[in-house]
Amino acid sequence: MDFKELREYMVRTQLIPRGISDERVLDAMRKVPRHLFVPEHIQPRAYDDMALSIGEGQTISQPYMVAIMTELLELKGDEKILEIGTGSGYQTAILAELAKNVYSIERIEQLAERAKNILSSLSYQNVFIKTGDGTLGWEEESPFDRILITAGTPQIPQPLIEQLSDDNGIIVAPVGDRFSQVLLKVIKAKGKLEKETHTPCVFVPLIGKHGWQKDEDYYV
Ligand code: SAH
Repeated sequence: MDFKELREYMVRTQLIPRGISDERVLDAMRKVPRHLFVPEHIQPRAYDDMALSIGEGQTISQPYMVAIMTELLELKGDEKILEIGTGSGYQTAILAELAKNVYSIERIEQLAERAKNILSSLSYQNVFIKTGDGTLGWEEESPFDRILITAGTPQIPQPLIEQLSDDNGIIVAPVGDRFSQVLLKVIKAKGKLEKETHTPCVFVPLIGKHGWQKDEDYYV
């Protein structure tokens, strides 16, 4: 299977027609081998227009969703990013291509370990992954120029707002109820928050102190 060709096809049919226009984002999506971030038996479907199961009840986001979230972060190359929800590590790799450093937190240890292994085998040296509750942020490393939450949350966790740079820092997150959210972009400058809403989406839940509670009935 020619994965490089499948990536080009993905960019041309799923991303460009839906309005992704940041050339750096498109190039990163052309470059990162998404199939290596999914279980072997579904590798042939890695470039399909959908989210896929990666085990532990979690998913790798649809390519378009990864692209639009990344585009909304407006990366130029020198940013320090915090990502909440490492999952497969695929979005982490895309961010690592486009920014200076990526700090990523995953709640499920097995996923964090798997992501670490694949990212180091691909020689990403600007990625730091830890296991824990990402709704608390990563205080020692703050402030962050950008924060990306890749799990659905009822609101943006307060610690993350506090750990965002006040100099035009940007947070992108799927915010809403358990089964439907919208991508929210929050820009922080001079102590003020400006909010924009973007596309509707459906993500697995952000479970933690400032997200959904573990014992709610949709627990996964
Ligand atoms: N960007 C990932 C998406 C993974 S799905 C990818 O494309 O592969 C969302 C991930 O968020 C899941 O792996 C889930 O375990 C994780 N997650 C949920 N709540 C979390 C929390 N409080 N802190 C860190 N990770 C969390």
